[in-house]
Amino acid sequence: VEWTPELGWHDARITPYGPLTLDPATAVLHYAQETFEGMKAYRHGDGSVHLFRPEENAKRMIRSSQRLAFPELPVGDFIAAVEALVKVDERWVPDNTDGGEKSLYLRPFMFASETFLGVRPAQHVTFMVIASPAGAYFKGGVKPVTLWLSEEYTRAGRGGMGAAKTGGNYASSLVAQQEAIAQGCDQVVFLDAQEGKYVEELGGMNLYFVQDDGRIVTPETGTILEGITRASIIELAGKLAHQVEERKFSIDEWREGVTNGSITEIFACGTAAVVTPVGSLKWKDGQLPGPASTELTMRIRSALVDIQFGRADDTFGWMHQVS
Ligand code: PMP
Repeated sequence: VEWTPELGWHDARITPYGPLTLDPATAVLHYAQETFEGMKAYRHGDGSVHLFRPEENAKRMIRSSQRLAFPELPVGDFIAAVEALVKVDERWVPDNTDGGEKSLYLRPFMFASETFLGVRPAQHVTFMVIASPAGAYFKGGVKPVTLWLSEEYTRAGRGGMGAAKTGGNYASSLVAQQEAIAQGCDQVVFLDAQEGKYVEELGGMNLYFVQDDGRIVTPETGTILEGITRASIIELAGKLAHQVEERKFSIDEWREGVTNGSITEIFACGTAAVVTPVGSLKWKDGQLPGPASTELTMRIRSALVDIQFGRADDTFGWMHQVS
């Protein structure tokens, strides 16, 4: 789908997958005006295909596009585009009758397709969706993610783009992720840019801390990506009689809580892994093991996965049937 000021959104079409031909002066290649989403289509036991909360992805793309000075793609048009592609690619939505967690990954994205060199919002914008079958994130059972604490780099500051899903945020996180891998860790933990003290999120997941009184804490929004899994867990946890507090959570509170046992579980969440226990945390001068328990983590994980794959009643009305 294309956008220009004269025509608005127009020329919606589905074409065979293949390379794009771009002019070397295409704005996105130079000034990174782009935003994207990540979501999945799931096949249920009866063969039907469903999206998980697509209107939330559509709304998040609108929030991201406002930050990136893009025109707004209406929620209905976003969902219609994703649905149309899933229908065409229906045979690529994997079967899960073996109890698996396979899906069709969907990547909607919007970019500045105008040809010009200059810093201003593009007057020609392109919105596309691509799809690819995805295997289960965990093969052979859920395994805790190990974390590297980035003390040198931050992902987003106040007034920045932290809440937007835009490539620039991921570009700025690459060196930190490279460091994490060099340290033998799976993911990087980012702290806030102002004080370097409060936990924000991982490279590609949000975080949750379970306390011994049953309450669950998750870092507040503002500079983090507002995960759709994160939001769903707040609702699910409530149903499981666990209150969720969205507040600032310092790295000291993490270290002390694990050491004195007042934090009983830590988990991370996102579209890819859904929910995963957090294992050890490593930083320049030290290391901390993950809490031993994963009881509530795994309960929340199953509750969510079972809804997505149609093995439990969709009491929240989260699933959106496509075919
Ligand atoms: N934080 C970041 C930085 C991410 O890239 C993602 C993955 N989209 C998330 C959190 C989790 O978001 P969601 O639950 O919508 O996948």
